[in-house]
Amino acid sequence: MVKSIIKLKNVSKFYYSKGVIATGFTKVNLEFSMGEFVAIVGESGSGKSTLLNVISGLDTYEEGEMYINGSETSHYSEDDFEDYRRKYIGNIFQNFNLVNSYTVYQNVELVLLLNGAKKKNIRKKVIDLIKKVGLYKFRNTKVSKLSGGQKQRVAIARAMAKDTPIIIADEPTGNLDSKSALGIIKLLSEISKDKLVIIVTHNYEQVEDYVTRKIKMHDGRVLEDRIIKEHQDVTLDQARVYKNIRFLSKIRLGIRNAFNIVPKFLLVLLVYLFITASLMSEYGSFKESEYISSKSGYNQYFQNTEDTRIVIKKNDGSAFNDDDYAKIKSINNVSSIVYNDLLLDTSIDLSDDNYWISATVNNISNFNKKLDYGRMPENDNEIIVYGNKDDYYIGYLKDEILDKELYLRDLYTGELDKSVGLKIVGISYNDNSNNYYGNSEIYVSDKIIDNLTYQINQQYSKLTVMFQGKYYDVNNYDQNFRIVPKRDIQDGSVYISSDLNYLCKNENCINSTLSIDVNNLYYSDTLELKVTKTYDKKNMESLVGIKDYDTYNGNIFISSNDYNKMFNRDNYQSSVNVLNVEDIDSTITKLNKAGYNTLKISDTLVQEGNTEVLKIMRTIVTIILVVVLFFISYFVIRVILKSRNVYFATIRMLGANRKVSLQLLIIELLTVANLAYFTFIGILKLNELSVINVGIFNTILKYLKINDYVVIYAILIFISYLISLKFAKKLFKNSQKGYSFYKIQLSKNNKKILTNKNI
Ligand code: ADP
Ligand code: MG
Repeated sequence: MVKSIIKLKNVSKFYYSKGVIATGFTKVNLEFSMGEFVAIVGESGSGKSTLLNVISGLDTYEEGEMYINGSETSHYSEDDFEDYRRKYIGNIFQNFNLVNSYTVYQNVELVLLLNGAKKKNIRKKVIDLIKKVGLYKFRNTKVSKLSGGQKQRVAIARAMAKDTPIIIADEPTGNLDSKSALGIIKLLSEISKDKLVIIVTHNYEQVEDYVTRKIKMHDGRVLEDRIIKEHQDVTLDQARVYKNIRFLSKIRLGIRNAFNIVPKFLLVLLVYLFITASLMSEYGSFKESEYISSKSGYNQYFQNTEDTRIVIKKNDGSAFNDDDYAKIKSINNVSSIVYNDLLLDTSIDLSDDNYWISATVNNISNFNKKLDYGRMPENDNEIIVYGNKDDYYIGYLKDEILDKELYLRDLYTGELDKSVGLKIVGISYNDNSNNYYGNSEIYVSDKIIDNLTYQINQQYSKLTVMFQGKYYDVNNYDQNFRIVPKRDIQDGSVYISSDLNYLCKNENCINSTLSIDVNNLYYSDTLELKVTKTYDKKNMESLVGIKDYDTYNGNIFISSNDYNKMFNRDNYQSSVNVLNVEDIDSTITKLNKAGYNTLKISDTLVQEGNTEVLKIMRTIVTIILVVVLFFISYFVIRVILKSRNVYFATIRMLGANRKVSLQLLIIELLTVANLAYFTFIGILKLNELSVINVGIFNTILKYLKINDYVVIYAILIFISYLISLKFAKKLFKNSQKGYSFYKIQLSKNNKKILTNKNI
């Protein structure tokens, strides 16, 4: 005697809804064996479908015992039933439950892939099955284009491909004309030779020539159970091994699902493009405002606040020598060195009666900007002005100041030094319209720099003159003293005004001693000089080349050599300019390693308002944006993917577990997310190539660096992943209460089809 594969002993199924108990079926006792072809008949509502669902493991039962291949199932968990369905049950439905967007081939192939087959190994098997159900001609046709009868043939081919010992068909011919129906019944009869096939039908006459057994149900009970004819005994092949879906198959199916319904694909792509564009725009403008606020600070010590500037000193406080400068220059990313960087922080006036430009000074050899007007200097007295377009003189009057000769205002006397005219031959604008703090620069020759260096060094030093036993503070303008170098004066000599003669013995200061004390941050020194000449109103011009005696009679003229000795000393502080601001920190590290103390100028800026608070606000805004984007896209994608419920119910019925279904969903959405991301990058590229020109794209291109793109990509993938999780949670929610998930999804689908048919 062959053991029955399914045995129900006093099994009852109840439905509880809103406190009311409905009976699915009661006290059913049935046994089924391999080789049987069973027809279940009975009026509507008699419990046929409920019985099939319990046998299929799609639904639970409340009372009695069900045995599967001899083992009792009351202790079965969801996973056990999942496993059971996978190994034992092939379902065929009245409404087919095929994947309409797949071809016939893909539908049959799907079940094999889900159960671990290798794509290239199953081609022949799939084609054979399609031939068997007579659809070879339609193998590459989308299922949605087939007739009902053809669809049910695909469903049978799929069930055969799954190759389970039990096939359960709930009204498989309910939607078919009688000719197609007969074909299906014949096929099922064929299959039943080595399987157990149970069908529900309303039309017993149609099947009675084929079935081996008839069960009639009435009001939830088995009314009649009759053998129609003998069936062949078949032994159950226990050796079947089911594998999990292969990784590559998951990727394939996920990608196929991403594209195979074109309108759905385009809508999801649009959603992801929207997310990508929003993230990039927000991030780009965030970076832009961060950059602008970093540039727009001010500083009371440094006038030149270019973000490329690093102030350097030697660790031991000594002066820089040529070796130092050579070493610094060889460091990667160092574009130029300003030896005496006090220049950079001293405001110089360039003026005449009508024009006034206030600027810091830089060496022409450090000019690495774009020239907007004019040309490069060709001699020592030609200069370039760099500043803001909105500046009145540099911007509005650019045509007037170009080729104009202007004069430097003496740092001491406040007088314009008309002895040397500086001609503006080039104008360059900074690109930052927020840099409004008058950070204009003039780029001048070495010779002008030397001249200015002395003035600046004097300004940064405390100078006292001791003359006739009395100290005079040179920096005190009331004294009107000023130390001026003259090339043709002998070293050690000094010329003073004859007005000072009254201080000396016999009202004659010739041969008396005058000493100059220099005191600054780095050194102090004293220079002892002997008065060799005095000048007066008449001989001043011939002696030192200056006419205006009344203004300059406080001048103390010394030799250029002595002056150099006092003021053109070694450099103790210099500045380095870097080529790429992005790499400034690594340049600083290298400078530190080489033995120099560094100060990054952009770190010394004092910002208006509290930037930390601004940063935190901005971060909060970004987080809110991500959350809002997530919810918007989740709800939109949920609406778009609503039709996918049936797909997931179907693949789970075919053997994909929850995890696999979720993975397929994740791959599907990630595919589109990636496509959207790289499409957007492509659009940015078009903008870069000036094919299009969109303001926000320019901002993104300018301020986002490669790591920012990576961060945005990660956020996008994360959002996409969360959407998949949330969608899946919603999708599979029902499966927590019993195993009704499939039933609900599939019967929803059923209703839809029925209403469609009614229309
Ligand atoms: P048949 O397939 O024979 O037409 P069903 O098995 O679908 O009948 O239904 C059997 C009984 O169970 C009916 O009385 C029906 O109202 C009830 N029933 C079926 N499904 C549910 C459900 N999900 N909730 C409550 N009652 C149900
Ligand atoms: Mg039914």
